[in-house]
Amino acid sequence: MSTAIYPGSFDPVTYGHIDIIKRASTIFDKVIVAVLDNPRKKALFLVPERVKMLEEVTKDIPNVEIDSFSGLLIDYARSKDVNIAVRGLRAMTDFDYELHMAQTNFLISGGKLETVFLTTDLAYSYLCSSTVREIASFNGDVSQSVPESVAKLLKSKYGY
Ligand code: ADP
Repeated sequence: MSTAIYPGSFDPVTYGHIDIIKRASTIFDKVIVAVLDNPRKKALFLVPERVKMLEEVTKDIPNVEIDSFSGLLIDYARSKDVNIAVRGLRAMTDFDYELHMAQTNFLISGGKLETVFLTTDLAYSYLCSSTVREIASFNGDVSQSVPESVAKLLKSKYGY
């Protein structure tokens, strides 16, 4: 059985992430979407909130599981006995960072953890969580970027 891990901050999950999750779920038998608990990155949503959000928006995809982890991706992947990570590529701006991460993970995992890139659907290539947070913080319309359940959570986070 082929299993892949899709790691990320998902703060919050956007239609861009969901597109990658859906497409990965057609390639692999199982996809574990793993929310990274990174204490060095100040997040808007707590990890359990991000997990719940992801569970809600992926509830109709049977081979997707939501989890969270802290520490190194290679250690988490090893604990799950998985050797494929999925990442999304939006534009050249993502490429340098993603290439570096993929090569580092390959190296420090002793050549075990492979990274598979899915290129973003053009419709979502402009989308990123930080812009969504920025728009939502001014009570702007984020309905084209995130599902309604996520838009509601953003509103209440920002007190609207
Ligand atoms: P990070 O893990 O770098 O903090 P995110 O949680 O925002 O970033 O993203 C997780 C993964 O999803 C990354 O591989 C990122 O490139 C990808 N991603 C983010 N937004 C989109 C999008 N709109 N379309 C496709 N992939 C995306």
